[in-house]
Amino acid sequence: MTESYLDYSATTPVCDAAEKACIAAMKQNFGNPSSLYRLGMKAENAVSAARRVISKALGCEEQCLFFTGSATESNNIAIFGSLAANPRKGKKIITTAVEHAAVLGPFSELEKRGYETVYLMPDENGCYNAKQFFDAVDEHTALVSVMLVNNEIGTRHPVEEIIRAVRMKNPNTLIHVDAVQGAFKLPFSIRTAAPDLLSVSGHKIYAPKGVGALYIKKGVKVSPLLFGGGQEKGMRPGTESVPLISAFAAAVEWYLPQQKELLARYEVLHTELLKRISEIPEVSVNSPAGAVDYITNISVQGIRSEIMLHFLESKGVFVSSGSACSKGAKSHVLGALGLSDARADTALRISFGAYTKQEDIERLADGLKEGLSSLIRTK
Ligand code: PLP
Repeated sequence: MTESYLDYSATTPVCDAAEKACIAAMKQNFGNPSSLYRLGMKAENAVSAARRVISKALGCEEQCLFFTGSATESNNIAIFGSLAANPRKGKKIITTAVEHAAVLGPFSELEKRGYETVYLMPDENGCYNAKQFFDAVDEHTALVSVMLVNNEIGTRHPVEEIIRAVRMKNPNTLIHVDAVQGAFKLPFSIRTAAPDLLSVSGHKIYAPKGVGALYIKKGVKVSPLLFGGGQEKGMRPGTESVPLISAFAAAVEWYLPQQKELLARYEVLHTELLKRISEIPEVSVNSPAGAVDYITNISVQGIRSEIMLHFLESKGVFVSSGSACSKGAKSHVLGALGLSDARADTALRISFGAYTKQEDIERLADGLKEGLSSLIRTK
């Protein structure tokens, strides 16, 4: 059966360039970057070269980029590590109600440890404005964490303006950006946005799972969460995964030159998707106008997300019922948007990537129609 993968926000297939770089690092460049002989130096050089590529792509200095095992880890180091290293900044921390669990989890843990947590609500379109942040920040605010692109509905938050507003209100407040769903895919630069901390993930950009990176602005103090051999300047000790790090850089080098062309293609695909689903009266779009073209959240009236998801799967079409990590739990993002339970219970996320074709959209639309006519609907 022909398959249509439409869940690129959950993860991406590994691109050829990343596969090649990964295998070369495993087979030929297998040394430990900390070893003093030639093989070790060669591995260390590969890590440095990868750091150069990814920091250039993000618009930051090489020495400010630290490799981690995932964006979840990057977020945890950014949040727990920056608060631990800066106890005098205050006990108030601010984020949005629509963050990924990799930010909401640390916030909920910090609440238990005595921090005052603030979760800013979006407007009915899932959008935020800089003034909300300006108003929420005070002299006790140690940290603000805000995502670049929402993983469920695709809203692109105005992080550049938010950062300026936070700095204006309290220049001591640290700002972390979870850039997992936007970095490399959209024009975005650390140089322009100027956050203190920023997280990215390899497997959302065609590298294998198990590698991420954290940007830490020069001069910003962060305490490590792990202690050991001092790799990554002690920020993330543990032998560096040269294969995954090399693959991450190769994937970024492959994707970035295509960014503009792919964004144009996603726009065409998105228009086609909206056209096809507008022909199905039971389907409504939950993503607001202005969301990125590569993430679209919809609801299919009367058919629970998992039921439709598995029906589509039987037709070879793969979509998600929300964020991949939520494993079918009701979406806190759609809840924050004020959508009814009936709408949230029937939501599906469709996300495009570099290999998405027009036929995939057609197969999805046909699958939705077929599902609607053959599945038993709830009220
Ligand atoms: N942040 C966002 C916005 C995400 O979408 C994800 C993954 O879905 C993560 C963080 C976690 O990334 P990782 O899988 O690398 O831990």
